[in-house]
Amino acid sequence: YTVSMDRYTVLKVIGEGSFGRALLVQPKGSAGHSVLKEIRLPKTQCGQESSRTEALLLSRMKHPNIVAYRESFEADGHLYIVMEYCTGGDLLQKMKQQKNTLFSVEVILRWFAQMCLGAKHIHDKRVLHRDLKSKNIFLTDNGTVKLGDFGSACILNSSRAYVYSYVGTPYYMSPEIWDSKPYNNKSDVWSLGCVLYELCTLRHPFQATSWKSLILKVCRGAYPPLPNHLPYELHYLIKQMFKTNPRDRPSLHTILTSHRVSRLLQKHL
Ligand code: ADP
Ligand code: MG
Repeated sequence: YTVSMDRYTVLKVIGEGSFGRALLVQPKGSAGHSVLKEIRLPKTQCGQESSRTEALLLSRMKHPNIVAYRESFEADGHLYIVMEYCTGGDLLQKMKQQKNTLFSVEVILRWFAQMCLGAKHIHDKRVLHRDLKSKNIFLTDNGTVKLGDFGSACILNSSRAYVYSYVGTPYYMSPEIWDSKPYNNKSDVWSLGCVLYELCTLRHPFQATSWKSLILKVCRGAYPPLPNHLPYELHYLIKQMFKTNPRDRPSLHTILTSHRVSRLLQKHL
């Protein structure tokens, strides 16, 4: 390893994916912990540029509800991104730990409001996240929610080919993506709608045993009804976020301000 890598002690592996690994590290001579994401750099120039985009876009974000960027460097054909460690792990793990006990409305609204603030910051910087899902949303020890994993993010005004390219996770993909239309800010809103539904029910809104039937459900915006005990505003919000035409879906700005649920969300921030 090079000079930069020498400055960290690796404690353990906390995540593994196709990209490489996420490691829990300790900067030498300091008490705090960080996460070091190790990404194998592709052979092609073009592939390398797109890997570097993750570090570049994360470094541009500065918001309490987005994982804080510390530094990045390259060594031995790898890109390393150092970021804040969220001790609570990801939301998917958290939901699994619940078994079948639903989260309280207070917890759902508090987490969701924070996700919206983080996502609005991303959109305000003219960036699309493109892979919002419970596995990419992290929790700190004081219960703050942080959006992470900018591995699929792109700049809003980048070349069409890039915005059209397939990314994301099938369960969270909006009707326009299945319809081969470009990814836009409302596609992120759809994905956040899926996360909100998951928080409310501990299930995916759109689930099926075949691709064909999954796509049909998504394109009809047909999801199983929510539990009755949830407030009317949550029923209403989810219905709006799952509008099949992206133009009918609220933006994050709308959800947080002029929307009739905004007062409920502000109360939980
Ligand atoms: P990938 O591109 O493989 O999805 P991620 O950035 O999502 O990589 O990291 C993979 C997993 O590692 C996450 O789902 C999460 O469980 C864990 N992880 C990543 N970054 C952090 C972090 N900053 N704090 C806590 N856990 C993290
Ligand atoms: Mg991820």
